[in-house]
Amino acid sequence: MATIYSKFKGRKTSAALLTAAVYFILTCTAFGQKSGQKWHFGISADPAAKKAHVTLELSGKLPDTVVFKMPVWTTGYYQFMNFGKNVSDFIATDESGNELGFKHTDQNTWKVAANHKAVKLKYDVECTRNFVGGNYIDTAHAYFSPAGLFMYQDKNIIQPVSITVNKYPGWTRIAAGLDVAGSDSTQYTAPDFDVLYDAPILMGKLEKLPGFTVKGIPHDFIGYKMAIADKQGFMDDIKKIVENGSAIIGEIPYKHYVFLGLGPGGGGIEHLTSASVAFTGNGLDKQAGKMRLYSFLAHEYFHTYNVKRIRPIELGPFDYEHGSKTEMLWVSEGFTVYYEYMIIRRAGLTNAQELIGQLRGNLLNYEKKPGHLFQSATQASLETWSDGPNGRVADEFNKTISYYDKGPVLGLMLDLKIRHETQNKESLDDVMRTLYYTYFKKLKRGFTPQEFRKVCEETAGVKLDELFEYASTVKEINYHPYFAYAGLDIDDAWKKLPGAWSGITAKTQKDSLFITAVEYDSPAWKSGIRVRNKIISIDGQPATLAALQALSTTKKDGDAVELEVEQKGNLKKVKVIFGTENSRSFEIKQMPGPDALQTAIYKSVFDPK
Ligand SMILES: [Zn+2]
Repeated sequence: MATIYSKFKGRKTSAALLTAAVYFILTCTAFGQKSGQKWHFGISADPAAKKAHVTLELSGKLPDTVVFKMPVWTTGYYQFMNFGKNVSDFIATDESGNELGFKHTDQNTWKVAANHKAVKLKYDVECTRNFVGGNYIDTAHAYFSPAGLFMYQDKNIIQPVSITVNKYPGWTRIAAGLDVAGSDSTQYTAPDFDVLYDAPILMGKLEKLPGFTVKGIPHDFIGYKMAIADKQGFMDDIKKIVENGSAIIGEIPYKHYVFLGLGPGGGGIEHLTSASVAFTGNGLDKQAGKMRLYSFLAHEYFHTYNVKRIRPIELGPFDYEHGSKTEMLWVSEGFTVYYEYMIIRRAGLTNAQELIGQLRGNLLNYEKKPGHLFQSATQASLETWSDGPNGRVADEFNKTISYYDKGPVLGLMLDLKIRHETQNKESLDDVMRTLYYTYFKKLKRGFTPQEFRKVCEETAGVKLDELFEYASTVKEINYHPYFAYAGLDIDDAWKKLPGAWSGITAKTQKDSLFITAVEYDSPAWKSGIRVRNKIISIDGQPATLAALQALSTTKKDGDAVELEVEQKGNLKKVKVIFGTENSRSFEIKQMPGPDALQTAIYKSVFDPK
């Protein structure tokens, strides 16, 4: 991970990236057309071995040595997975079954001496990671993330591919976002490897919920271990999500769509014509649970527009060997969070107060994390490959933010600003539509950061220096003017909280008191106390949670406490001088006496229809 990351250190200009991307498309297309290759994969699940058996028949114009590669990542999950490590029992033969020599030159590369003739491959892939971006098989189902399964030929991803998914005895169904070829759901096709890699396959003892169409296009929800009491009611709500999500752009860019429910777990990944979601349906009986699940599904669904088609220039065609790095995930991910809230609000699945609560949740997460003093939204996007999907860990946790938090806040501010400047005639929806029709439909490519900004400024009719400075720097955000555009007031005043404050949060584990969090720059932090330290004694007495918590009332600002802590196996005594905690509530309220424009903007955003 670290060595691969170092290749990204020199940051190219967007123009250079654009040129590289266009060149890549041209060379790949030219190669594909000339080569006239035929790629056919076969796949079988082997639950006993927890492996997938993969075959490839490759014919057509081939070089002397064919360089086969496994991707290092899968789109939508911006982390290095190095899928090659899961491959075993690799065998290459010619059409008559004679073995061909090969060299496994690195974890993800196999060089086969094909002698310009057709090649057959056989290999196994370990399927033990139960995760939306991994491969997994158990006795009742299998989930295949194609980037972790199918090899491509180096620098040759624009090739049509066909696939046979072999049925497994007793399993009822195969589901995938790919186009079905033939009369049953075992034959699939993809026009190129970008499409192939963006269409996971779920098979097993699956349940299909009642499907629906929007604008004549079929939408399905097929899943494993789903427990939904009111299936029709649930799908009626999903239909509202799809209708309101697709209405933002005005057209549906796919022929069919399927939500793949993977059963218990966490997370989701968006795809071109599907979404993979860890999902059981648990929680639908309460409004809070419903709101969380519908938000999550609306998020993955809206990605079919924002990131899959409305996309930064770097995100397609993808670089499966090095990863595709962009500074725009605050838009691709963050604005998708903004729209998940907007979609379920417009669908009537939440009310105005719930929507404000969701946005305030992200704002609080952003403001409370000290990382907002160190990392901008564009940096968080570029650095996610090394920071990890949820930012850095341990002490470094305090140096990062999440674009999932700052992104929707910036999305809201941009929406309100555009509405204010245009007398509520234009909005962030217009930005999304312009990006879709200009770059995806007309130019058939992604947009550069400069082009994104230009579309925002042209939609607003004014320069947006301040907003883009908030995106690319750690400058403290002044929310007031933006919230005021919708007649809202936000309470960002610092208030002193009562009681003595150390900054330590702890819990008892196996009769010991462990520190679970130390607030950055708090008195305990300044004394060198860190998360996971064990507290042995408090002012000479055995440490208990009750004794620690009592300090907030028995001590006052300026008082000291002596803590004996165990740090990495060493015992040491630490003196902590208590302080007073300052906090901001960021409560959001409607202003008294809003004017006509403020009222109209509030209604459009928070109380539509
Ligand atoms: Zn997302």
